[in-house]
Order: sequence, then structure tokens, then C-alpha cells
Amino acid sequence: MNVYDSERMADILKTQNFETADNPEGVDLVILNTCHIREKAAEKVYSDLGRLRDLKEKSSNEMVIAVAGCVAQAEGEEIMRRAPAVELVFGPQTYHRLPGLLEKVAADKAKGTPARIVDTEFPVEEKFDHLTKNASSAGPTAFLTIQEGCDKFCTFCVVPYTRGGEFSRPVDQILDEARSLAQRGVREVTLLGQNVNAYHGLNKAGGEVGLAGLIRALAEIDGLARIRYTTSHPRDMDDELIRIHGAVAQCMPYLHLPVQSGSDRVLKDMNRRHSAAHYMNLIEKIRKARPDIALSSDFIVGFPGEDDADFQETLKLVKAVGYAQAYSFKYSPRPGTPAAKAPDQVPEDVKKERLAELQALLKAQQTVFNKASEGRVLEVLFERQGKFENQIVGRSPYMQAVHVALDEPGDTKEKYFGHILPVEILAVGPNSLKGKLLTGQLNQSAA
Ligand code: SAH
Ligand code: SF4
Repeated sequence: MNVYDSERMADILKTQNFETADNPEGVDLVILNTCHIREKAAEKVYSDLGRLRDLKEKSSNEMVIAVAGCVAQAEGEEIMRRAPAVELVFGPQTYHRLPGLLEKVAADKAKGTPARIVDTEFPVEEKFDHLTKNASSAGPTAFLTIQEGCDKFCTFCVVPYTRGGEFSRPVDQILDEARSLAQRGVREVTLLGQNVNAYHGLNKAGGEVGLAGLIRALAEIDGLARIRYTTSHPRDMDDELIRIHGAVAQCMPYLHLPVQSGSDRVLKDMNRRHSAAHYMNLIEKIRKARPDIALSSDFIVGFPGEDDADFQETLKLVKAVGYAQAYSFKYSPRPGTPAAKAPDQVPEDVKKERLAELQALLKAQQTVFNKASEGRVLEVLFERQGKFENQIVGRSPYMQAVHVALDEPGDTKEKYFGHILPVEILAVGPNSLKGKLLTGQLNQSAA
């Protein structure tokens, strides 16, 4: 979501004659778009700010340093205190106000008063109305935020505090943005939301539309060949949405459905409002609807009170599901969340051990999943050049990165970008697949 937000900020700033730069040296404005989900991400902001301060001191122009995103939302005043070089702090819901905020910074400077502005209000409805219609996302894949915020209040999570309550964008606004993306050559959209499957936007007639209905409408758009969505909550994975995975060809066979833990006791303390059995039941239904679906998840190890038996339950669940890939984290106490105050915090070395064990298992599962692709022909949407001159890279329907070395020399590669082509998978690495383009297919790749 921060990638999407940063792109929209760049769009807005383009209207103010800014251009994006590849590195911060000599620029007029640096915006750090920050993440507050775990302590490590939040602390990184302060070390980056230290480096930027040094750069600002050395530079001859008046570089403005701004901090955006969820760290800005949660720690606005703290940032101002710890990082005197920062002149502007604004939260995730106010980036559409950027031109006005920058004007204010400039005006304060001109008056000789140091500009130090904090804007962390929550006018979420306003924000999307001000998004530029011609979002400038380049390339054949794009993110599209459809929902923001969360009302679920899992006891470990800062999202409800930093991104605010749940908000769904109206259906037509999303369809307009998707059409405009498709017209500019986007073939795949990933619908974004902290709780994307809780989506319940209004249509023109004032009726509520769920994620399943939205996907059906998006599937009607010419040129959009692939639709993905992330991140979902097990509680909101309704039967209608599950059915879509088997019924709408554009809906890709990949689902990121975080479970966090396999222990019902821990899930209860996390306030996840689902049990391990509920999750397994969903997995069964999803696999029935789409047998080849690739499954992904998030896990937290070392949540307060998690003992070894709880952790074994997590490993048991992982073994029972068989993931194509997954993300796993050590529990990180976040200020203001209930779990941070729990007395039974798990020692760091135990968290570390559990994470290593879980990650070894998940990696082995990922290898098994990728291995099964060997010798198969997969439809790959090519997106960009690879590390090597004659290499192109794309994604399989299952989100695997697929690398293809072209026989032809150099500069003809671009013609493949945005096309979905059959690739025979020849070799499998831990994080990507290598394959051979089946020849003569480019002209038939309209689908
Ligand atoms: N809405 C999604 C998750 C969004 S946050 C859901 O409910 O599943 C992304 C992931 O970050 C979470 O799934 C969780 O695994 C991880 N996470 C969130 N807070 C965390 C914390 N305090 N410590 C460690 N991991 C955390
Ligand atoms: Fe955070 Fe997801 Fe729980 Fe919401 S549902 S509080 S975003 S982990």
C-alpha cells in the first residue's frame, strides 16, 4: 500500500512541477513514506533521517525533508523532537494535501520562521476524491487501493490506530481508476486493503457491493487479464468470494490469507476471531473451488504467552496446509496495543529459535511448490528486464517470478512486456523459476 501511496504522491507533485529522482543527493524534497507495523521498520526511519540530515547539511540547495505514512501518523511529535531537520510530517490520510503543505513550508521559510508542520488528521473520504485521475503507474502491473483501515483490533496490531477505521472506496471510483489503468496497458491489478475482503463499497444506486461483486465488475474491463487482491482476513472470506476463485478466469489462483498462529489459545488472545479449525475449513472450501490455488500466509511467533505447545500447533497447521510461500515475523510489541502490555512476553532468543524453525519449514514447502512446476507450461505475464541483458522477467499465475533468457539479442525485449505467454519451466530455484518461451506465441497473446 505504501508503494501505491508513494506513486499517488508522485502524481500530485508532478502537477507542481516536481520530478522523481533516483537518489536524494541535491534534490529539493525527500519524502520518507514509512511503515509502523513492526519496531524494526519504524526505527529504520530514524537512521534514514540521520543520513538525510547529513546530506541536507552538505547540500547547497534548501532540501526539505518530510515524513509520511504510519510512523508519521503514530509518532508525529516524536519525529519532530528526535529529528530537527524534518520540516513536514503528514499521515497516510493527508497526502492529497501535499501541495498546500509544501506551500506552507515555503511560506514559513520565506518569513524566516522554521517550518515544522504536523498534519495527521483523518479525512479519508476526501483523500481518494483528490487522487489524480491519470495515475501514472508504469508497466503492465499496478496496485489499486480499494479499502483502507481496519476495525478488527487484533491485540498486536497498530493498523486500526495508524490507518484508522475501515473505509471502502465507491465502486465507480475504483472501476474508473481500473479502466484508466487498462487503457494505459496495465494487464494485472492487485486490489489493496489492510482488510481487502472486508470491502463493502457503494455502487451508483447506493447498494453495497462486496469484494466478489467488485471482482466480477473488474473482470468486464477490456485488457485486464489478471486480478489479485491482498490482504484478506479469514473472518471475511465468504462463500461468494471463494466461489469467484473458481468462476472468474481473471481471478488468479493465488491467495494470501494470514492465519498468524495455529493455536486457538493464542488466536483468542490475539483477538483474531477465528480458530485454527475455521481457517482449515476455509482452506478446504477454497481448494474445492480452485484446486490448484497457491496459498500464502502471515505468521507471528512469540506472541505473549505463546508456549512450546502453542508453537507446535502452528507447525502442525503449516504442515496441514502446505503453503506456496509465506511471511513470518517475531512478535514486536507496538506502543498503544494491548498485547504490548501483556506480562508474559516471550524472550527474544525463544522467538528467534521459533522463527528459524518455522521459516525452515515454510522454505521447504515453497521449494516443494516450485518443484512441482518443473516441466510444466505456465502462462507468464512479462513485466520487465532481468539482471542480464537478454533476460526478461514475469510472474506465473501463482505469483512465482519466472526468468526467461531470450535467444535474440538486446533491444527487442520490450515487445514482450505486457504479454502473457506460455513458458516451459526448465529449472527451479528457491525464489524463482527459469523457463523457455514457447516460440511464435506473441501474436496470439491477446487473452
Ligand atoms: N490485515 C491483515 C494483516 C495486515 S498487517 C490480517 O489481518 O491478516 C501485516 C502482517 O504484519 C500481519 O499479518 C502480521 O503477521 C504482521 N504483524 C502485524 N503486527 C505485528 C507485530 N506487532 N509484530 C509482528 N508482526 C506483526
Ligand atoms: Fe491488524 Fe489485520 Fe488485525 Fe486489522 S485484521 S488489526 S490490519 S492484523
